[in-house]
Amino acid sequence: MTVHNNWSDDNAEKIVDYYLAKGISKDLALRTYSAQLLGSDPELVLHGGGNTSVKSSCNDIVGNNINVLHVKGSGWDLGTIEPEGHPAVKLEPLLELRNLESLTDEDMVSSQRQNLLNPNSPNPSVETLLHAFIPKKFIDHTHSLAILALANQPDAINLCKKIFGTKVAIVPYVMPGFELAKVAAKEYEKAQNNCKLKGEEIEGMVLINHGLFSFGDTAKSSYENMIKLVNLAEKNLKRKINLSFTNTDLSKEQPNLVLPYLRGILNRFSKRYNQNNWIFDIRNNKSVNELFRYQDLSSLVKIGVVTPDHVIRTKSKILLLKEYENNSFDKIEKWVKDTEKALENYIEEYQIYFENNNLEVNNSKKPLDPLPRLILIPRIGLIGLGNEKKSASIAADIGQAWIETVLSACSIGTFKPVGEKDTFDLEYWSLEQAKLGKSKPPYLRGNVVAITGAGGAIGRAIAKEFYQAGAEIVSIDLNQKEASLTADICGTNALSIRCDITNKQDLENAFSEIIKNFGGLDILISNAGAAWEGSIANMCDLSFMKSMDLNLFAHFHASRKALSIFHAQDCGENNKELILGGQILFNISKQALNPGPNFGSYGISKAALLALMRQISLEEGKNGVRANGINADRIKSGLLNSEMIKNRSISRGLSEEEYMSGNLLRSEVLAKDVGKAFLALALMEKTTGAIVTVDGGNVAAMVR
Ligand code: ZN
Repeated sequence: MTVHNNWSDDNAEKIVDYYLAKGISKDLALRTYSAQLLGSDPELVLHGGGNTSVKSSCNDIVGNNINVLHVKGSGWDLGTIEPEGHPAVKLEPLLELRNLESLTDEDMVSSQRQNLLNPNSPNPSVETLLHAFIPKKFIDHTHSLAILALANQPDAINLCKKIFGTKVAIVPYVMPGFELAKVAAKEYEKAQNNCKLKGEEIEGMVLINHGLFSFGDTAKSSYENMIKLVNLAEKNLKRKINLSFTNTDLSKEQPNLVLPYLRGILNRFSKRYNQNNWIFDIRNNKSVNELFRYQDLSSLVKIGVVTPDHVIRTKSKILLLKEYENNSFDKIEKWVKDTEKALENYIEEYQIYFENNNLEVNNSKKPLDPLPRLILIPRIGLIGLGNEKKSASIAADIGQAWIETVLSACSIGTFKPVGEKDTFDLEYWSLEQAKLGKSKPPYLRGNVVAITGAGGAIGRAIAKEFYQAGAEIVSIDLNQKEASLTADICGTNALSIRCDITNKQDLENAFSEIIKNFGGLDILISNAGAAWEGSIANMCDLSFMKSMDLNLFAHFHASRKALSIFHAQDCGENNKELILGGQILFNISKQALNPGPNFGSYGISKAALLALMRQISLEEGKNGVRANGINADRIKSGLLNSEMIKNRSISRGLSEEEYMSGNLLRSEVLAKDVGKAFLALALMEKTTGAIVTVDGGNVAAMVR
C-alpha cells in the first residue's frame, strides 16, 4: 500500500500539551509523535528498525543550559516509543569525535554512554553519530521497502540520483557506525552546498543497500519529507509494495501434515549446536504465492537481505524446500530424506561462508548456529523460525518484507543487495558477538505445551507454571471464554482453542490448529475431567458412560493425536541421542488408588486412566516419549466447588478450613501446587510411568 502522510496538527498539539504537563519539552514531545507515526507503518519501519532524533537544549543538574541530541535508544520500537526512548546525549562531545581518524564500535558505544544526561538510559542508537554530525534539527531514518527496492539495484547510485534529484544526498554502502557517520556527513555537506547555490533546501539522504534519511527544521517537515520521498520511490516501481500480514487459512490444506516432520528435522539438527527446539510462524498470502511463481526462485532465495541489519533476525539466505506431494509414489519418508539433505547443504554453505569470512578477520569470531530462520515450501508458504513464537513472528514479518521488496525490485530491474563480506560484518558485528552466551534461556523455551481443561482452576495454574518456564502455551477448553482467559495470562502468543475433547472431530481440529500455529507439539497435559456422583447400584448408564468418555476415552484419543505428532517429529530417527520424544502428563486423581463412596464412575475411569498412562510409558519409552501422572486431592476447583466443600465439611463435623487441610501436612493443597508438580514432572528427564501425589499426605492414598 502507498505510504500515507498521517500527520495531524490537532493530534500534534494534543500530544505536546499532554507531555508538557509531564515536564517534557515541546521538541521531545513532537519527536515522540512523529517517531510513532513512522513506526506504525511496517512498510517504513519493522521491529526495532529505523531511528529518529532531535537537537535541542536542556539544563544539566547545576542549571547550565547545554545542547543535546535526543536520539533513539536501543531496545525501543518507534511505533510505541515514549519520550524516554529518545535519551539526551551531550552534543558537543559527540561532534568532537568527528576529528578522529578511526573509532572502534566499542569506544563509540562507551563515548555515547559517557555523554548521556541520564546514565540509566538505554544505549543510544549505533547511528547516533550520523544524527549528530548532520546539522539538522529533526532527522528521521527508515528502512522503507520502496526505497530499498531502488537502493538494491546494480546501478542504484545513478538510479537514485535520477529519481530524487539534487535535494537528496546519496551515500554508498558503509556499515553503520563511525565510518558511516563520517561518509554520510561528507555526502550531506556536498549535497547541501549544491542546494544552497540553487536556493534550495536539502530534504533527505539515500543510503545505498540500507535505507533513507529525511531532514527538517520541524518534526512535521522532516516527517513530510520522508513520506514525500517514499511516495516518489513508490511511483518509480512497476510492481507496488503491498506488505500485508493477513494469512490465507491453511487448515484444510493437507500439506500441513508435513510441518511436524519438518520441525523434527530442524530440532534434531539443532541438538548438534546446543540450540532449543524451534517454533514456527507460517505465512501464506498473495505475495507469498507470487514469489513461488518467480522463475529462478532457487537462486533468488540465496541472494541476500534487503537491509543488512535483517541478517541478525533471518540470516542472509532462505531455505527453499520441495513440495510434499501427497501420493503413494512420494512417501513422506522420501520427503524427510530430501529435506534433511537440503538442510545439510544449507548448513555446509553457511559454514563455508563463516570460515571464509572469519579468515579475513583473523579467526576472531565465534560461529553462530548455521540453521535457517526462513523456509519456503510450495503450497504451505513462508515459515519464520524462532526459539520462541515472538522471534519466529519477527523472522516471518521480515521475510514478508523481503518478498515485497525483492519482487518490486525485480519489476524494474535486478535485485542486488550488499555482498557476502558486508553481510558477514553485520551478522558477526563485535557488538552483537559480545551479547552471545550472556543470558541463560528459560528451561522450557522452544517447547509447545498443550493443556486440556485449561480454563479450570487447575488447568490455569498449570498453564501459568509452564508459561513462566518459557514454554509456548496452548489453552484448550470446552468453554472458549475460559480458554481465552487462561491464554491471556500466558503472554501475547498463547493460543486458545475451544474444543469438546470427547468429540473426535473437535480434537482433530484442535491438533491441526496447534500444528498450524507452532509447527508441532512437545508436551500434552491431559488434564480435563469431571465427576458424576452416584452409587454403582443406582447410577444410570448414561452417567457412567459420560464419565468414561471424558475421563478415559478423551485422554486416550488426545494421547494418540499427541503420539502421532511426536512420531512424525522423530520420523526415521534411530540415534538415541537425537530422538526428541515428547511427554504426556495426565491429571489422574487419588480416586484411582483410593476410591470414595458414590464416586465409582469417576474412580473407575481414573483407574483406567492410570493404566493408560502406564501402558503408554511401556510402549513409548523406546521412542523417548515419557508418560506420567499427578494424583491430586481436595483442590478447590470446578470439581470441588465451594458448595461441595461446605456440605462435606458439615457432614464430617469439621470447619471448611479443617476439611481442606485434613492431610498429614495440615495444609490446604492449592491449584498452583498441582501446577508446580506438573512442571516438576516435566523436568524429571529420567522418569516415566510414575505418579506423583499432591495431596498434603494421605496414608490411604499412598501408592503401594
Ligand atoms: Zn538503518
